[in-house]
This record gives sequence, structure tokens and C-alpha cells, in this order.
Amino acid sequence: MKTELRICHLYSDLLNLYGDRGNILAFMYRAGLRGIDVRVTPLTIGETYDGDQYDIVFFGGGQDAEQNIIRRDLVQNKGEAVKEAIEKGKIFLCICGGYQMMGKYYEEFDGNRIDCLAALDVYTVAQKKRLIGNTVYRCDFLEGSAAQGCFEPNNLYGFENHSGRTFLGEGVRPLAKVMTGAGNNGEDGTEGAVYRGVYCTYSHGSLLPKNPAMTDYLLENALKQSLGEDYRLTPAPCEIENIARLQRETCKKGLTNP
Ligand code: GLN
Repeated sequence: MKTELRICHLYSDLLNLYGDRGNILAFMYRAGLRGIDVRVTPLTIGETYDGDQYDIVFFGGGQDAEQNIIRRDLVQNKGEAVKEAIEKGKIFLCICGGYQMMGKYYEEFDGNRIDCLAALDVYTVAQKKRLIGNTVYRCDFLEGSAAQGCFEPNNLYGFENHSGRTFLGEGVRPLAKVMTGAGNNGEDGTEGAVYRGVYCTYSHGSLLPKNPAMTDYLLENALKQSLGEDYRLTPAPCEIENIARLQRETCKKGLTNP
């Protein structure tokens, strides 16, 4: 039987800053290397979210204005079903603005508070000065991924641009440590957040095209839920991605321009 992966792209028409759709393309590319079909369903304001219909939920980043626009629909229309799916361990990848909307609130630097989904024990407060630049974040769970020969698999190479500073509560753990960049708040050296199957990061770029170990990790964990705990993604090469990763390493050492 042909395996199919079902992805829900939340607010793909509103929260899609810095080409975050590239993450969907990376899922499609690396699933395709294993002959796995991918069906992507964009879901926007006014549309119902049914958690059992999807294996992965993707939630991209966006400007404060768009976060204000989607808030009511996220909290009042999709909220309970999204929280239920999270408690069931469904795989979510949330980037920057999408990450912030999963928390308790996002306070814009003018003091306007956006009450968010409160699915994760985090909150965000914006400041006037934006945190912008290339990033390297280091995880501790990607060593054994199916991305064959991935250069430094635990490194996440990306780009950040956010005014929000996010602080983690007791119930969540950081996704990674900051090697280069600001991460969650430019103070405590943490980056992103993980709660059950929800993976959040400030890394645009987009994140997954340059980070095949993370892509494969999320794919494998999503497919385990429909194919069983013993399911393992077959190993697949990542030469193309390694070119981009090695280039980031050389520019990190200031040897060439990014
Ligand atoms: N608007 C949010 C902030 O500025 C998120 C930005 C983003 O998604 N890049 O922090």
C-alpha cells in the first residue's frame, strides 16, 4: 500500500513570511525520496480544523498585523481541536509568528496584547529593536536521523527577524541552544520550544530546506503515528543540503559572504 503524508498548512494565505512555504516543499522533497506521496491542505479563516485528517500541521510566520487578523479564528474557531490534536501528540512545526500564536500571549511593543491559543506554556513580549540575522542553533536529538551523511546534523542553519522575545514556562523545553543569533529572546541562550509533538522555532530561511535531519525527524515521527512506533524512515542522501550547510559554516568563519 502506498504511504501518503497529509499536511495541513495553517493560514498559508496570511502567515507566509520569508518563504516559509519552503518548509512544505522540503517535506515533499524528502518524502518523495522515499516514494511517499504528500497531500497539502491549506486552511484559513472560517475553515474548520479536524485533527484526524492530518499527520503534520505547519504554521508559518508573519507580521503583527496578520497575527492580529488570525487571532480570533485561531482561538475561537480552531482552538479546541488544535489543542486536542496537540495533546494526542500530533506533529506541528511552528515558525516565528506561528510559534508566538501557540503561546499564552504576544504583546506588541506598543503594548497591544494579542491573547493567543495558550497551547504552549510560553509568552512573548516585543521590543522596538528587531532581532535580525543569520542563525545557527544546536539541538541534541537529530544525531540518529535518516538524513544520510548530513553535515553536523544537530545544527539548525537559518535566519531570524523578529521583534518578539519569547520566554519559556515550566511545561516546555527549548528546541535548541543558540550558537549564532538571538533565538528566543537574546538573553537566556535558548531557542524555540518543544511540547509533546509541537516543534517551534524562530528560524526562517526557510528552516527545513537547509536542515534535512530535522525534516526527516519530523517526517518519521509523523508517520509513526499512522504506521506504528516501529516505523523507520529509510535513509536518504542529502548532498544538495550539505552544500548549503557547508557554505553557512564557511561564512560563519567569515571566510566568504553569505
Ligand atoms: N511579528 C512577529 C515579530 O515581529 C513575528 C515575526 C515573524 O514571523 N518573522 O516578532
